Amino acid sequence: MNDYLIRGVLKAFNVRFVLAGTTRLVQDAVIAHDTDPAAAQIFSDALTAAALLAPLLTGEERYTIRWEYPGTAGGLLADVNAAADVRGLPSNPHLMAEGDRADKEKLFGDGDGMIAVTKSVAGKVLNTGQTKAPLAQPSADIAFFLSLSDQVESEMVTVTRFNADPANPVHTAGGMLLQAMPDCDLERFEVMRRKLGQPAVKELLLNNCSPLETRLRRILAELLAPDSLEEADVNYEFGPEPGFRCSCSEEKMRQAMLVLGMDDLKQLFTERDSVAVCCNFCRRKYTFTQKDFFST
Ligand SMILES: [Zn+2]
Repeated sequence: MNDYLIRGVLKAFNVRFVLAGTTRLVQDAVIAHDTDPAAAQIFSDALTAAALLAPLLTGEERYTIRWEYPGTAGGLLADVNAAADVRGLPSNPHLMAEGDRADKEKLFGDGDGMIAVTKSVAGKVLNTGQTKAPLAQPSADIAFFLSLSDQVESEMVTVTRFNADPANPVHTAGGMLLQAMPDCDLERFEVMRRKLGQPAVKELLLNNCSPLETRLRRILAELLAPDSLEEADVNYEFGPEPGFRCSCSEEKMRQAMLVLGMDDLKQLFTERDSVAVCCNFCRRKYTFTQKDFFST
């Protein structure tokens, strides 16, 4: 099944939701960055969280999210645009050697982390905000940021199930975002946000039942029980398919290399025939020779 994004509103309760399936996105990212299982778990959470933010953007807008944790997980970077092109970068893709993958305190440290979110359009910063990241989970810390900095009560949960096959490491990945809109019934929202983190909902998020409408209705029914879905007056639509897609190109990389200056570039190519440059976000490799910069 392809990855998907569904955005909607429970009109009767003024609650907005986003549901995303990110299996392929996470798999492509995990393979590109060669993350070990412990790092893949955290990276998956961060990438799915970024995908869930896509419907909050319009036009050329982009969110860039940076997490810094005092534990071995260290820093993570992810960005997303309105087309749900997601890319990311873990500062430490190999965590297994550094500790027990189940030792959350070791991975995230025993103090608060930091999260910074920048909204930009066509490379120009619209606004940027920073809060502490006290929840030791990238997706939960994004929801914390949205609640505190944007003052929109938010809850986010992600799920990932892995395969033992290194060539096909991700079985299922996905997540859901809930947000309280103006005039939201906050008591109801609190009940829904608590249920979102429960095993029953996580199981439904991991269950690849189709069609997607059925999956959505089952998840919403679980969040709303004992009330019925009909009472909530649900309205939803499909968004763009999320994917691990990078905006790098040979020309952008060439421009970046020009920053070195012509003298240094000339020197570089007297020392070697070609220079390989790797994109930090997608790990794509670009190889340049003297001819790419000099006519003779
Ligand atoms: Zn790239």
